[in-house]
Amino acid sequence: MATSFGHAVVAYTTCKFAKDKVTKKLLILSMISSALPDIDVLGFYAGIPYESMLGHRGFTHSILFAFLWSWSLSKWQFKHAINLAFPVLLFSTLSHGIIDALTTGGRGVGFFIPFSSERFFFPTRFIQVSPLHFEDFFGEWGKAVVFSEFLYIVLPCLILIGFRILYQTIEGNNTPS
Ligand SMILES: [Zn+2]
Repeated sequence: MATSFGHAVVAYTTCKFAKDKVTKKLLILSMISSALPDIDVLGFYAGIPYESMLGHRGFTHSILFAFLWSWSLSKWQFKHAINLAFPVLLFSTLSHGIIDALTTGGRGVGFFIPFSSERFFFPTRFIQVSPLHFEDFFGEWGKAVVFSEFLYIVLPCLILIGFRILYQTIEGNNTPS
């Protein structure tokens, strides 16, 4: 896993790129959706093994879960803005597995569960994996995670948001009044 903060930054950036203005409610639910797949770590306490389809980086990290979750949440909370909410929530949820597949540790991501139990990583992995146990975060490992997420998640997201704002400013200036 990357940290919930790292995942939420990606969701925040996604909202900034949405075709229409995103409400605060959608923004918050997108950020929650981006971190939600790691709810599967609770399975460790229930004795579910990592490699199980319901284990860590299993079903809740799959493409199917992202679709089901985003569609249900959009239908439930954003009936009148589903065309905006669904893609935003979908990408925010999917981005979790994509980021995890770029991390340096753990096992791969079960993108195709339940159709295939295979776990995947991208060929290049550069995001320092975050510890599963909170207490391991304090120390060298935690520092490496913070540095890595800043460099590979926060900084690129800030640059993208900067470009987006610049584009919107130029567009706004060119709009005939
Ligand atoms: Zn994860």
